Amino acid sequence: MPDVSLRSLSKSYPGARGAKHHALHDVEFTVPDGEFAAILGPSGCGKSTTLRIVAGLERTDTGSISIGGRDVTAVPSSERGLAMVFQNYALFPHLSVAENIVFGLKVRHLSKDERNTRLAEAAKQLRLEPYLDRRPGQLSGGQRQRVALGRALVSGAQLILMDEPLSNLDARLRAEMRTEIRELQQRLGLTVLYVTHDQVEAMTMADRVIVMRDGGVDQIASPEELYARPASAPVARFIGSPPMNLVEAARDGLDLVLGDGTRLDATELFAGHAAELPSELLVGIRPEDVLVGRAPADRTLGPALSIPAVPGRQELLGADRLVTYLVGGERVHVRVKASDPLPVVDTLRVPMHQVHLFDRATQHRIEPAPRETLAAIA
Ligand code: ADP
Repeated sequence: MPDVSLRSLSKSYPGARGAKHHALHDVEFTVPDGEFAAILGPSGCGKSTTLRIVAGLERTDTGSISIGGRDVTAVPSSERGLAMVFQNYALFPHLSVAENIVFGLKVRHLSKDERNTRLAEAAKQLRLEPYLDRRPGQLSGGQRQRVALGRALVSGAQLILMDEPLSNLDARLRAEMRTEIRELQQRLGLTVLYVTHDQVEAMTMADRVIVMRDGGVDQIASPEELYARPASAPVARFIGSPPMNLVEAARDGLDLVLGDGTRLDATELFAGHAAELPSELLVGIRPEDVLVGRAPADRTLGPALSIPAVPGRQELLGADRLVTYLVGGERVHVRVKASDPLPVVDTLRVPMHQVHLFDRATQHRIEPAPRETLAAIA
């Protein structure tokens, strides 16, 4: 039962001129048994350090790590019951695929029969049977990565840690391997902790995404929750392609005032919030939530925020078209169907329930009040 639990991890490295560089502070999360968890964040935010501490390749300064309910903080890596898959595959070039896969088992003195049984099983799972006699140099990038996965599988570990395993592959192969790794994890019931800076990988593969920033955890949520309710402006900026538009605005009575002085009637938007809103806001709008080209009289969509906008550049993305508008002096991306007529409008409309608000000072999400609260106030 290899659930993984991290409590209050922090880690510093010696920094410039004797100062400490805080790589991690108060990192806490739990990955339940059999789940696929992705640690997502920009380069340098502490993802690999966290993974290496779980692996036992690095010591934490404070806090604890437990795997399957056992405190492993002081347990050597080889006794933590986990396997690691690295970005660079870490294969021996002079050994065959088969020898690479069972190398660790040989070191652990497992019998030849046992090694062969495990090898056959992993080769079947990973469709590597035709390549067992080849050297890594004679394989494609995807096949090499599968060999690295094979080595993790034969180890018998139920917890697998992966550090950017797909970064060296081209886009098409990456997409294939995403599906393959996810299927394998589900079929074998593995617990996976997977480090990536690619939000698409995290969103498509994981049950749970742990978003990190500046050495701390920003949000832990399912991909659906992360998309629908990013807990902060930085998370909102990180998820989606293109990500959420965030427009600076000030609250003035029942109006939102944009950077260039444009006033929007926000009566209905503010009515959804029971508590007093801060005066400095970020208005979050997903490119796919904007309605263009619909008559303002269309009431079936419920109340919407109307935003004056100047259309600009267009970009064809295949099925969709990305149109850039100027809103309050800021660029706002809008995603429309490529087959729809070109949206030449001067007003964008966003259904109220799809408008996200963030406090500009704290960058935190401001949740609308639950309906019951609003009903009680009314
Ligand atoms: P990520 O994996 O998110 O790119 P890392 O965990 O590798 O980030 O690094 C987090 C921070 O810690 C970075 O600022 C990095 O420069 C620093 N760091 C990582 N490893 C070391 C080390 N061995 N010595 C000094 N600083 C390090």
